[in-house]
Amino acid sequence: MLGIRQSPTADGAREEALEITLCASAEGWLAARLADKAPTADGIVRFVLEPPEGGAFPAFSAGAHIEIELPAGMVRPYSLCNSPHERDRYEFAVLLEPNGRGGSKSAHQDLSIGQMVRIRPPRNLFPLAEDGHSLLLAGGIGVTPLLAMGQHLAATGRPFTLHYAVRSRSRAALLDRLETPPFAGRVELHCDDGAVPFDAGRALAAAPQGSHLYVCGPQGFMDQ
Ligand SMILES: Cc1cc2nc3c(=O)[nH]c(=O)nc-3n(C[C@H](O)[C@H](O)[C@H](O)COP(=O)(O)OP(=O)(O)OC[C@H]3O[C@@H](n4cnc5c(N)ncnc54)[C@H](O)[C@@H]3O)c2cc1C
Repeated sequence: MLGIRQSPTADGAREEALEITLCASAEGWLAARLADKAPTADGIVRFVLEPPEGGAFPAFSAGAHIEIELPAGMVRPYSLCNSPHERDRYEFAVLLEPNGRGGSKSAHQDLSIGQMVRIRPPRNLFPLAEDGHSLLLAGGIGVTPLLAMGQHLAATGRPFTLHYAVRSRSRAALLDRLETPPFAGRVELHCDDGAVPFDAGRALAAAPQGSHLYVCGPQGFMDQ
């Protein structure tokens, strides 16, 4: 189970209302084509969706998720991890939950490149504040919405730091992106089996006063 938490700020309500108006379609579903699917870490697969006829998807804001109808029949939410400034794709990453009810398993096993899927348009329950420094704390697969946030913050010239805690480097999703601009130099990767494991107190103490805090990760990480 993924948990999200943020400092009490941002007004995403208006933006969300606009998005929902824009993408109103029959029964609220959108068609999308799976344009790419590739492993990005142990147990994690990255997916890219494109509009079936080219063109643009409804806009989304950093922190938003879509819901996807999986081939096995269930619908699951996934956070968008690409830049909210891109309109030609939705990108997300899925961690396999071996003890789950089959949603992540169906995404990993049953979805194939070129396949058409139905999605519900982006909704944002985790919006960004529009000012100040942002401290982004990610545990495991919880990095996905924070990646979209980092890209938006960089594009709008706002400072941020991302701490990314994983059990081991091989389980860190989308590392290639984190090692290049705009993330390079702004990310600290903490591996439980490495030299500098994640320390929430240290991360908080090092952040500028008044920073907005965004945390996303599994329950154990959220409890720290
Ligand atoms: C807003 C949002 C964004 C998300 N973004 C992402 C993302 O970017 N990437 C990602 O991988 N996941 C994300 N998730 C989680 C995702 O939607 C799925 O829950 C996940 O893929 C697992 O689905 P599943 O059907 O395989 O497992 P589920 O059946 O949903 O199981 C998930 C967990 O719950 C436990 N569980 C299942 N059934 C029960 C039960 N009856 N009682 C107690 N525990 C139970 C399982 O042991 C497992 O650990 C997000 C969730 C939300 C709400």
